[in-house]
Amino acid sequence: MKLQLISFKTRLIIYLKRSASVIFLLCFVSVIFIFIFNAKQFKPGGLQPVVSGKQYVLDNVNLVMVEEQTILKNQQLVINDGVIEDILPSGNTTQTAYQVIDGNNAFVTPGLFDMHVHHLERKALALSLAHGVTSVRMMRGYRMHLLWREELNNNEWLGSNLYLSSPVFASRNTHPLNQPVLSPKHARELVEAAHEQQFDLIKLYGYMDPAEFEAVIERANELGMAVAKHGPHPARGSSWQYLDGLQSLEHVEDIYQGLLDYQFDRKELVRAVVKIKATGVPVTPTLAVFDHLSLLSNEKHDYIAQLPLEYLNPVRMDIEEEHAITRWLSDTPKQSAFHITKGDFLKEIVKELHRQQVSLLVGSDSGMMYMAAGVSSHREMALLKQSGLSDFDVIIAATINPANALKVSERYGSIKVGKVADLVITDQDPTVDIAHLEVPYAVIKNGQWLSREQLDELKESAKTHPSFWVTATLLIEDVIYRYFS
Ligand SMILES: [Zn+2]
Repeated sequence: MKLQLISFKTRLIIYLKRSASVIFLLCFVSVIFIFIFNAKQFKPGGLQPVVSGKQYVLDNVNLVMVEEQTILKNQQLVINDGVIEDILPSGNTTQTAYQVIDGNNAFVTPGLFDMHVHHLERKALALSLAHGVTSVRMMRGYRMHLLWREELNNNEWLGSNLYLSSPVFASRNTHPLNQPVLSPKHARELVEAAHEQQFDLIKLYGYMDPAEFEAVIERANELGMAVAKHGPHPARGSSWQYLDGLQSLEHVEDIYQGLLDYQFDRKELVRAVVKIKATGVPVTPTLAVFDHLSLLSNEKHDYIAQLPLEYLNPVRMDIEEEHAITRWLSDTPKQSAFHITKGDFLKEIVKELHRQQVSLLVGSDSGMMYMAAGVSSHREMALLKQSGLSDFDVIIAATINPANALKVSERYGSIKVGKVADLVITDQDPTVDIAHLEVPYAVIKNGQWLSREQLDELKESAKTHPSFWVTATLLIEDVIYRYFS
């Protein structure tokens, strides 16, 4: 018998050659995990600290009372540990131990909500806050957002309150950043998973198989989990009763595209709104996003030149430049003109919803396609006003209506003793012109006073961003997690 003597080195080489693909795969997976780990640890500089627990009296102010729809003049707000402790007439001297700030006849409005945003970095919440938007509802939740919400709850940095939707539940042919629903059983499992991960609500697309659509809503109802639906109508083949009790219905553009079948049909519009009204569910019109796209189509690079692009995340800038923006910039004059006609009709839809007293919610779709946080919320408010809402009605749509929809009106949405001191201070009366809210004199967040200079600092710091790769890695992690869990 001939002994085969193979050196250790040769054996090692043979082994490595045989295992090359496995080793390559392991290295690749390790690199991905190192990237993800680093991206998750990355926190951008410039986030502002939370200073809580202060006691002070804000004297000589006028209060915008959104529930009573009136202004309480010459008042004093007593704020203690982040909460409105008392509301007294101006000049009251009961709280001698508290610091007194002279409000100089300023106006105090409850903190604003933006009920439809999509953001990929923490600074967008600081930027929202700098615009008086003290609460946002994130409408495409990723795992990174769960971490942000935890940090905000721990008072680690200063930003708007965050209400968080699940990943978008959509049909099986959706893009990877959405959550495809494959069967009614799968739908129920996905709702359970979102509930377990503590997302606040399910975001549900409408273009789905009706059985899957109904399974999502049924399971969410059983678990007491809120659902917000894209499009103010049921999935094709399902019934209106499934919309009862939802948190909100998104986008009036979908009334035109869905219920009105792409027709400017005003009679049918009235009938459609009767059905929506009967559900009792609020509607988030999101006029701002359509208006923005129409301006891109009509004014093209002249419009882009005026946008505050310095506030946008690099992933958004790169991906949207390629895929979304270019499409609108290459519209023909005929297509551009059509967007103006359609935009006017969308405002008519809002007017009809308002006429039939459907509860409306301010939601901008900011974060999408070059729409900056906070700035877009005010644009949405201006467009609601252009649709026929009074200034006071718009403020209601930005404050108590969202608080009611989110079921947090015990603590938020109006100025009342015992509620959280999330407030916007303006020199002029916002119920005469909501534009005064765009540049607040100060914002109070959880009782923390933020002067105009501090708000400007927040805005300035929102101009620096995590790199493209940090954000992209977090999105990849989200996709990996959902496909392998
Ligand atoms: Zn959206």
